[in-house]
Amino acid sequence: MAAIRVEGLSKRYGPVTAVAGISFTVAAGEIVALLGANGAGKTTTLAMLLGLVVPSAGRIEILGHDMARDRFAALARMNFASPYVALPARLSVAENLRVYGHLYGVPRLERRIRELAGELDFVPLLDRPAGTLSAGQKTRLALAKALINHPAVLLLDEPTASLDPDTADRLRGWLAAYRAASGCTILLASHNMTEVERLCDEVLMLREGAIVARGSPEELCARFGRERLEAVFLDIARGVA
Ligand code: ATP
Repeated sequence: MAAIRVEGLSKRYGPVTAVAGISFTVAAGEIVALLGANGAGKTTTLAMLLGLVVPSAGRIEILGHDMARDRFAALARMNFASPYVALPARLSVAENLRVYGHLYGVPRLERRIRELAGELDFVPLLDRPAGTLSAGQKTRLALAKALINHPAVLLLDEPTASLDPDTADRLRGWLAAYRAASGCTILLASHNMTEVERLCDEVLMLREGAIVARGSPEELCARFGRERLEAVFLDIARGVA
């Protein structure tokens, strides 16, 4: 079953076409990456899937719900993390998670917060105001917030931005294990090719709002005659391919 189904999705801002009629599906339990140069349309696509940006055209279905007519049923079973969305700075880490947990009606919330703090390694930070965290600590809090409701569909914008290599590597391992244990479907935007090669079943390459290549990391490397996804990305971004 497709967890995410997108057909002919577009977003125009005046003369700028941010997303140009893209179609794709993400099967339940898959991890799929949106890749593309700055301005290719990744964040706009994620924002439309979340209902934060209204599409100019096209159709989005998530977990069987048409997002134009019935988005709240789907949103209750989704969540997202983005380094571009600040969490309330004066609230402590625990208070932030409580607020979001209550919004989603999470049962046994205190236990869920302790569980996430343990797994994502921020127990000592629980009483700190969120505004005082380092960028990498904020990234982990944002991910904990994104997981608070055990989402069936998780949208992640650059999930390891600002993380040191060790923490980023642990977080990728943790996301892979989480997907395996929960069957969660994950769509992520990333600029980190190692992350995508390690985590993702499929890649959607965007250029100027359009999908210009798709396939597993291995398939794309084979198709473009390259050993690493980074070289495929550069060929596509520079318009060589
Ligand atoms: P990055 O890797 O830099 O985060 P991205 O692939 O996420 O880029 P988007 O943020 O989706 O790209 O932007 C796609 C295009 O749409 C860009 O040209 C951007 O300038 C434009 N755009 C996005 N939001 C708006 C807006 N609110 N008004 C006008 N143009 C916008």
